[in-house]
Amino acid sequence: MKLIDGKKVANQIKEEITLEVERVKLDGGKIPHLAAIIVGHDGASETYVGHKEKACIQVGFDSTVLRFEDDIEEDTLLRKVDELNKNPEIDGFIVQLPLPDHISEQKIIEAIDPKKDVDGFHPINLGRMVIGLPAYISATPAGIMELIKRYKIETSGKDVVVIGRSNIVGKPMSILLGQKADPGNATVTMAHSRTKNLKELVSKADMVIAALGQAEFLTADMVKEGATVIDVGITRVKSDQTKSGWKLLGDVKYDEVAEKTEYITPVPGGVGPMTIVSLLQNTLKASKGEIYPKF
Ligand code: NDP
Repeated sequence: MKLIDGKKVANQIKEEITLEVERVKLDGGKIPHLAAIIVGHDGASETYVGHKEKACIQVGFDSTVLRFEDDIEEDTLLRKVDELNKNPEIDGFIVQLPLPDHISEQKIIEAIDPKKDVDGFHPINLGRMVIGLPAYISATPAGIMELIKRYKIETSGKDVVVIGRSNIVGKPMSILLGQKADPGNATVTMAHSRTKNLKELVSKADMVIAALGQAEFLTADMVKEGATVIDVGITRVKSDQTKSGWKLLGDVKYDEVAEKTEYITPVPGGVGPMTIVSLLQNTLKASKGEIYPKF
């Protein structure tokens, strides 16, 4: 069993980005600038935005956080999005989800200029990804692809089961692994809650991406000997063994599954750290005009 150390790879990538930003500074170029909009006071959202802000500072990016109360009108938020779209200082921005019920998330996402949509949630970016054009790819699938690349895990011709079909994880992950590309060229099955023979499908898979959000769902009896297992799930459960009283569990019963695998990601320390790093990479691409050339 080989551990896929997402924390280590994420730190490595952060160092690479830091060096690149230092070079840009020396050349008198523009420092990449990521902005985030956060609405309300949801604890998890505050934590995510806090992590993103810290990561920006770590690599030398400029970072702006715009905070709004949860009674903000949809029209006002749309205007704020438009201001960021038009602000030449901002290379890319994200709107932290979830938004309050009276605001349409889809409307807000579609109001973001695709050229600044570093979360890769805009239909234009999703569509471009599907047909293989340069696009911002949402952070979690992009992070998983980077891990597969850096650990040189063969995907060509392999049978992959992705469990989950959300627009931000399961669906893009399935498309990326099935693309005519390297990594890619896999034969992908995208499973979901209506899939009937999941156990049988998983037991034949060379690679399993578990992104369903059910703690320790994947057990050793389901997994093929020598498979690669990528655990995306994060569930916070109470624990009397930690200082905080909480611990994080993945979708994989790690201790028993790990023994059967060739490669496996742990939780925490696997996919999670890569997600923020992918956002930094997308912001860097935005500032360099790599996806959509700047004129
Ligand atoms: P969603 O809840 O949006 O999607 C879950 C998917 O899993 C759905 O497609 C659902 O099927 C499917 N599913 C649920 N139960 C089963 C089951 N018993 N068998 C098969 N399929 C099932 O979740 P997300 O994609 O947003 O996130 C998935 C997990 O990944 C969560 O734990 C989340 O916290 C974590 N996550 C981690 C990130 C990281 O950085 N590490 C980033 C993003 C998410 P159906 O469509 O039929 O309902």
